Amino acid sequence: QKSDPFQRQGSEAHVSTDLFSLQGKRILVTGGGRGLGRALAEGLHNAGGQIALVSRTPEQVDAAARSIGSRAVGLPGDVGTEDPAKLLDRVESVLDGPVDVVLHAAGIQHRQPAEEFDRSAWEQLLHVNLTAPFLLSQEIGRRQLVDGRHGSHIFIGSVTSRNFVPNVAAYMATKSGIDGVTRSLSGEWSGSGVRANAIGPGYFRTEMTEPLFRDKERYQKMLDRIPMGRFGNPEELVGAAVFLASDAASYVTGQMLMVDGGWTTY
Ligand code: NDP
Repeated sequence: QKSDPFQRQGSEAHVSTDLFSLQGKRILVTGGGRGLGRALAEGLHNAGGQIALVSRTPEQVDAAARSIGSRAVGLPGDVGTEDPAKLLDRVESVLDGPVDVVLHAAGIQHRQPAEEFDRSAWEQLLHVNLTAPFLLSQEIGRRQLVDGRHGSHIFIGSVTSRNFVPNVAAYMATKSGIDGVTRSLSGEWSGSGVRANAIGPGYFRTEMTEPLFRDKERYQKMLDRIPMGRFGNPEELVGAAVFLASDAASYVTGQMLMVDGGWTTY
């Protein structure tokens, strides 16, 4: 029943927690060297996956892979500049086969009021946060379609895919764009067993959000917007990633799963 886990036989559906196992799946995590990407890579590894982590700082991505475990490999790489086909060739070579799941966690931020927003920062942000994950998924998807393989593409959106946060115009544009890319790919590839979804995190303490935690007034303002009354812990994102990567989500595509303490609900 493995290939069609929810095939009904009479009124019975065979459902087991094995559906969440990532054993045998080859998984690429961009931005895996630190922060949310690193935490998600560890979670995907612990669910049984074989993981390639990619980020720019070689020592960081190596150390992350070593601390995650024996089925994780660190690959220094820049998703913004490296040709996606070449990057994917390197990944497939260390994973010893084609990628089943990609989780795009590489991302950058730039804060500036809209009326002063620096043009080159705008372009860089759009490139790294939106264009690069699209191009990499395009290459992975192309190979999956040609081979007739199933796949799961997981993008990282944000509460800013839905709600306003001040001084991050480019970031908001990219995270709304991620919603569009997710829905486009899911629609175009839905007949082939290649799924595309996103996770929409609330606020989690990482290098990217560190300035917020040092600015008492802004910190409190953000906190006041979160119904659960606290920021998230990176490990609280893992369940969403394991679910979307796994066969448990075989009928889920085109969604952004918000993990935000209720922020975007109210
Ligand atoms: P961090 O800055 O802590 O980590 C970002 C990671 O991406 C690092 O490993 C960094 O490594 C890597 N990276 C950045 N640019 C590139 C690039 N060009 N090529 C390859 N790797 C790159 O950020 P977070 O962990 O907080 O963010 C991860 C994702 O989650 C981002 O997409 C962010 O927008 C999103 N997000 C985060 C939230 C939060 O609260 N933290 C909330 C909502 C969304 P290196 O610099 O070595 O390349």
